[in-house]
Amino acid sequence: MLNIDERIIKLAEEIEAEIAPQFKEIDAIAQYNQEKVLNAFIKNKVSDSHFNHSTGYGYNDVGREVIDKIYADTFGTEDALVRHNIVNGTHALAIALFAVLRPGDTLLAVTGKPYDTLEEAIGISGDGKGGSLKEFGVNYRQVDLKDNKPDYDTIKKELTDDVKCCIIQRSKGYDWRDTLSSKEIGELIAFIKSVKPDAICMVDNCYGEFVERDEPSNYGADMIVGSLIKNVGGGLAQSGGYIAGTRECVELAAYRQTSPGIGKECGATLGQNRHILQGFFMAPHIVAQAVKTAVFCGAMMEKLGFEVNPASNGKRCDIIQSIKFNDAEKLIKFCQAIQMASPVDSYVTPEPWDMPGYNHQVIMAAGTFVSGASIEISADAPIKPPYVGYLQGGLTYESGRIAVMLAASALID
Ligand SMILES: *Cc1c(COP(=O)(O)O)cnc(C)c1O
Repeated sequence: MLNIDERIIKLAEEIEAEIAPQFKEIDAIAQYNQEKVLNAFIKNKVSDSHFNHSTGYGYNDVGREVIDKIYADTFGTEDALVRHNIVNGTHALAIALFAVLRPGDTLLAVTGKPYDTLEEAIGISGDGKGGSLKEFGVNYRQVDLKDNKPDYDTIKKELTDDVKCCIIQRSKGYDWRDTLSSKEIGELIAFIKSVKPDAICMVDNCYGEFVERDEPSNYGADMIVGSLIKNVGGGLAQSGGYIAGTRECVELAAYRQTSPGIGKECGATLGQNRHILQGFFMAPHIVAQAVKTAVFCGAMMEKLGFEVNPASNGKRCDIIQSIKFNDAEKLIKFCQAIQMASPVDSYVTPEPWDMPGYNHQVIMAAGTFVSGASIEISADAPIKPPYVGYLQGGLTYESGRIAVMLAASALID
């Protein structure tokens, strides 16, 4: 059997008694979201003909069309663009930004600097060449969070006539802050619209889907955007991204993803429809498994004396568990133990490396069936003080629990 310390096994039992109320709430949320998703499947009369795949131009691909409707119905939007060949979350976000912004417009980030990988697309970092928004004459400004919350006074001042689009990031990403709830995002959107009614509010929804009962789209977001190898793919989607929102925004996004004049009419699905459909059907349950793993991990690390975010009894709005190690060695040990507990590549030892796009060395543990899928158990961290590690995913709570116990055993060793 696996090398789990006796003390950690005992601790795990204690912890599970303590976190039972959180698990009950997670189950209730999964039940609620499952009904939303199932309802969308029933309403749209999904049949096995939707699993057939198109080739070539991909005209009249009924599976592709039903997937868009199911996402839209589940998220309460007018339309959606869900494609296996949106290569990741960054690509989906870039499509959405380029879809609505034109030369002379301004993009305003209202929850601080967007996720690292967007910097080059916007033109904040890099040489601004290669077709960034900046190169196309789109301006960028940002309003940092104040005490971890949106800074309403400054946002109001920054909402000048040239602001076409506001980007809001739901998840904390690599920051030590609270993830915004859908409701908080809704309040922010209402505020933005009260100052500038025509500002397009776009939400980076990565890691947030199905963690709460509502999505930002239920609170007025014009677009929500995410990756299919995170929450919404349910561990089954092999690749992809989505943009759900108003009919107008989704149409513009489709023109950007394919070509003006083509939009949603083309795009062969090459056999991906069943994975995407079944993954979305599974997603509320799988997300609950990941959230339970995060709660268990948070509680375990608290017991071992580490500061965690969210706290084990804190509110959850994404699947990420942050742990402050204050020690590079412990952080690396933790990530290596998560890798050892993975179903794929368990024998590989991850080491910190100079990953493109990051200023510090990064360590990544991801022994996943779908390469890099972070709805599967994974841990990563930039190697810099205060040495914060990020754990996310877990296709099953049982396997996530084992991984956390192995990591805890390695830490007390
Ligand atoms: C994962 C993520 C992205 C996109 O990253 P990809 O690796 O390109 O999928 C963007 N924003 C946030 C908050 C994320 O967590």
